[in-house]
Amino acid sequence: MAQRDIAKTVYWLDNTLYLNITSQCTNNCFFCLKRYRRGVGGFNLKLQEEPSVSQITTELSEVLHMRNWDGVVFCGFGEPTERLDVLLGVSRWIRRHYGRPLQIRVNTNGHGYVLNPGRDVALELKASGVDKVSISLNAGDRETYMEICKPTFPEAYEAVLDFVRKAKLVLEVEVSAVRLPEVDLDKAQAVADALGVKFRVREYIPCFY
Ligand code: SF4
Repeated sequence: MAQRDIAKTVYWLDNTLYLNITSQCTNNCFFCLKRYRRGVGGFNLKLQEEPSVSQITTELSEVLHMRNWDGVVFCGFGEPTERLDVLLGVSRWIRRHYGRPLQIRVNTNGHGYVLNPGRDVALELKASGVDKVSISLNAGDRETYMEICKPTFPEAYEAVLDFVRKAKLVLEVEVSAVRLPEVDLDKAQAVADALGVKFRVREYIPCFY
């Protein structure tokens, strides 16, 4: 089996490291890359199992000192806060083992508080060394969100808004939406403005068979 055929928890694009720590997700977005790709940048991201902290840090230790990375992003074929303790453990490990300045970011669907009841997710992320969260707002209203993200629970859009409000108290926050015909980007921008956070448009990568 070629090296890049083996599913990876650690991959990189340009000068940024990415961590693929789970396949689980509380959304089922029709535009999700995992629906029609095995991975990105030549890396296979279709995990066979949910990796442990030590599996991830073993992979990380092979590449962490390979170059001066600009940052590390928790972003893969699942929602990182599905495995909050693994996320926190890996973030703490990076802070212990990489002495140079490095931004740690989590790309999240914003369901972290629903997934981890009783936990202060944003505060725990901050304490572990995470600097920033990029939250997939994805829509300017609940109906559109439910249609395009197909979440597994009914109050998902409200959960995202709640996550943004809590995260911005302790972390750098940006929200994003994919450029799709179904999405009114001006409306999504207005929601971001009302929440007092930055808004970014992600370009849709269409499906090529
Ligand atoms: S939230 Fe992200 S990982 Fe989950 S289905 Fe949507 S695009 Fe995929």
